[in-house]
Amino acid sequence: MMTILLRINLDITGNHPDRSPRFRSAVRSIQSVSKDSNKVVLLAHRGRPRRREAKLSLKPFTKYFYRHLERKIKFIPHLNFKKIRKDIDKAPNGSVLLLENTRFFPGETSNSPKLAKDFASLGDKYINDDLPTVHHKNASNYEIAKLMPSSMGSELKKELKDLDKLAKNPKSPSVAIIGGAKMDDKLGVIKRLLPKFDLILLGGGVANTVLKARGVNIGKSLYDKDVQLGSLTSNQRVVTPVDWEVKGDRILDIGKETINEYEELIAKANTILWNGPMGLFEEKPFDRGTKEIAKAVLANKRADIIIGGGDTLKVTKLNEDELKSSKILLSTGGGAMLNYLAGKKLPAIGVLS
Ligand code: ADP
Ligand code: MG
Repeated sequence: MMTILLRINLDITGNHPDRSPRFRSAVRSIQSVSKDSNKVVLLAHRGRPRRREAKLSLKPFTKYFYRHLERKIKFIPHLNFKKIRKDIDKAPNGSVLLLENTRFFPGETSNSPKLAKDFASLGDKYINDDLPTVHHKNASNYEIAKLMPSSMGSELKKELKDLDKLAKNPKSPSVAIIGGAKMDDKLGVIKRLLPKFDLILLGGGVANTVLKARGVNIGKSLYDKDVQLGSLTSNQRVVTPVDWEVKGDRILDIGKETINEYEELIAKANTILWNGPMGLFEEKPFDRGTKEIAKAVLANKRADIIIGGGDTLKVTKLNEDELKSSKILLSTGGGAMLNYLAGKKLPAIGVLS
């Protein structure tokens, strides 16, 4: 009998966390690891707290786990390792226990060796099944793996395989739709996808950056000053909006003509990859471009589709129940998915034994 430390992702917002792909993936992960009489200790974070913050506690998840796993998960509220260890020791074999938000523990995001050692002392073996965090070095997903036998979880393995299949061999005509705000993440991906995909359709701040380089006056719109676009600027397969919605001096969404043009290209595609909203979707009516694009993507029943990114999934409001019959894959990862597709090293994967 042993105790397995299982890193899952519970970085989920909204009123129905159990509908999110991240939660569903966590449930499958727990199911696959907790088959025998070993004890399983779950490690996960939520949000960006620096210390204990009641609204970012993981406790509410026990209710959802109970509903979806049909078994009790014991929540350990302490941040004190002596007390945590006592609770784990007391628990009967076969128990699944959930630690409090790992980011409540000092040293988590700075990858503290001391904290990693404390986490590692709680179990015999470490399994990482948290894709959305693999591009970060945290005590509970990086340093810990150096201290004990460690491996990739089944969910993480499957998701990387699915991403590989679609992104490395897209079926033509293929379109990658890239929007959103995190420019430095996205440029590497665009460069990497360009040789494989027929067209890259841009929206959001990413589009603004390329529009500016193409000589368009973007006023005070969000864009990335520091980015080196090189030959991307003149590449005809990198498609920028032809019109846009503005407020004051800022481009906040793609325009109607652009929506029509993108819709046609999406309808013809056999492979679609999408990350990043087309506009400032949090503010109506600038959610329109993103919502129309989402509709167009969903309407294509023939294509292989991957959609990823925290905000992208939030605004498209897709959940796995609705998608069971379609060929759409929701990636749990945002930045991590992009980094993987861009061919960057993912520290929390590289460190596993
Ligand atoms: P994801 O989380 O799906 O990877 P990002 O975090 O990169 O996506 O981008 C989402 C953010 O980008 C949203 O907050 C959205 O409001 C913002 N955004 C998109 N387009 C614009 C724009 N034109 N101007 C300002 N913000 C934008
Ligand atoms: Mg985001």
